[in-house]
Amino acid sequence: MIGRDKICAIVAAADARSMWRQVRRALVITRTIELRLDWLSDDAEVTKFLALLRSGRSANARRATFIATCRRRHAGGKFAGTIARQLVHLAEAISAGCAWYDLEIESSARCPPELLDVLLGEGRQIASAHFFQRAPGNLRRVAADLARVQPAIIKIAVQCDSLAESMDVLRLAGRRKNVIVIPMGEVAQPARVLALREGSALAYAPVENATARGQVSLDAMKHLFRADALRRKTRVYGVIGDPIGHSLSPVLQNTGFHARKMDAVFLPFLVRDLRDFLGAIKPLGIAGFSVTIPHKQAILRHLDDCDPMAAAIGAVNTVVVRGGGKLYGYNTDYVGVLRALERRIPLRGSRVLIFGAGGAARAVAFALAESGASVCICARRTAQAKALARAVEGEAVERRRLRREFFDAIINATPVGMYPRAANSPLTAAELNCRLVFDLIYRPRVTKLLQLAARRGIETVSGVEMFVAQGTAQWEIWTGERAPEAAMRRAVLRALRNEEKMAAR
Ligand code: NAP
Repeated sequence: MIGRDKICAIVAAADARSMWRQVRRALVITRTIELRLDWLSDDAEVTKFLALLRSGRSANARRATFIATCRRRHAGGKFAGTIARQLVHLAEAISAGCAWYDLEIESSARCPPELLDVLLGEGRQIASAHFFQRAPGNLRRVAADLARVQPAIIKIAVQCDSLAESMDVLRLAGRRKNVIVIPMGEVAQPARVLALREGSALAYAPVENATARGQVSLDAMKHLFRADALRRKTRVYGVIGDPIGHSLSPVLQNTGFHARKMDAVFLPFLVRDLRDFLGAIKPLGIAGFSVTIPHKQAILRHLDDCDPMAAAIGAVNTVVVRGGGKLYGYNTDYVGVLRALERRIPLRGSRVLIFGAGGAARAVAFALAESGASVCICARRTAQAKALARAVEGEAVERRRLRREFFDAIINATPVGMYPRAANSPLTAAELNCRLVFDLIYRPRVTKLLQLAARRGIETVSGVEMFVAQGTAQWEIWTGERAPEAAMRRAVLRALRNEEKMAAR
């Protein structure tokens, strides 16, 4: 076992002071820390940093386990010096307090073992191999080659372009002891988080600067995904989509699990190939998942059964994996719209305009029609507006009529006004003749459209309400319990506020 903590913080910066600052930040979360000496700009910064390490060790730092790494360029690092210089830096790091060092196979293969023993014998070795382009033909052989130098631990990092490849890498951790496996790349990110559960000795996560593709920040690894607490019986959920990096669903759903102290985790899956994901459901033990763009329609073909309303809408955003791996689909966008609106206006008998006729507009239209509202659709493509209006026995309305007509509510179901084009509004102030405006967009929380409406004294509802409502409905379908909605909403609002603060900088 390397350190007490299995999540290893990666500390990587160009100057010694920034690197030391990262060490202090890492120590708040974990006591296992990798020091990427190769990121330091030159030998002088390495010396300066190691002096800080030697002298500036707080009580916390004294209890920490440091791993020194000085990865050379052709092995994917930044160190441009010779192997001799690399070994000298590692030896200095060991004498400054690093109990472990990581040496890539490209360097160790060119050093006599006796030399390594003389120079680095005080430290314990992680023998590592990295495959940044593609997976090697035979992972077990790579593991055997690494083990030949008799290190304390072997580490294999592999670029994976599919979940199937990621699972091959994870399987290696199940077969041997003292192995660290790292599936790299965006598609493999969930596998990175699950690596500890599969038996990897460590999972790496950067404090600040990413050092490889698909990394999860240290904070997210520890607090959002709780990677070191995941066990074989932990229930795994996720969201599939492309892109997926900005999804707030992991924040929403994991907050619900934490609040209820449930042994479950929710992960973001970047899915380009649905079949690859479907093939991972069983081996990863996935119990349910959210579906977002572009898979909401395509997933229908792969379901064993589907809620009638989701079938009528023609889109599924929630899947439950039932006994025998059977997939059952729902559409909670539908529920989300109703939960967001019902508290504000009586829907039965109201006249509501939906602007846009895409996927979300369809869910909104079916929800409103089912609740007894009279649905009007306005879209830039008249044929689409008419088709949706027909499907819900509503009315298609031409844009030029909006200035003269009154609605109880107007709902924006287009992406116009979404960050980063937040200065745009899909409708003008003169077109807002209504009691309530609901914008499905939640980035930003208060869109230009909502600002225009508020200025005219019209009640407003943000897309955050629908996002939280559709997500809590998913959570309840999966767990069969009432969702801790207030905590889940607070977490999403906090994340959005932070994003807005960062964007304003
Ligand atoms: P979609 O299927 O692509 O449909 C978008 C609709 O907007 C289409 O009718 C499209 O018309 C129209 N549109 C796009 N650009 C336009 C423009 N410049 N002027 C006029 N109309 C325009 O997208 P979606 O999945 O329905 O999503 C729509 C919005 O709802 C997105 O902003 C999404 O983030 C939001 N949403 C929010 C939630 C939530 O929980 N709050 C849930 C789902 C969706 P064309 O067909 O002519 O392009």
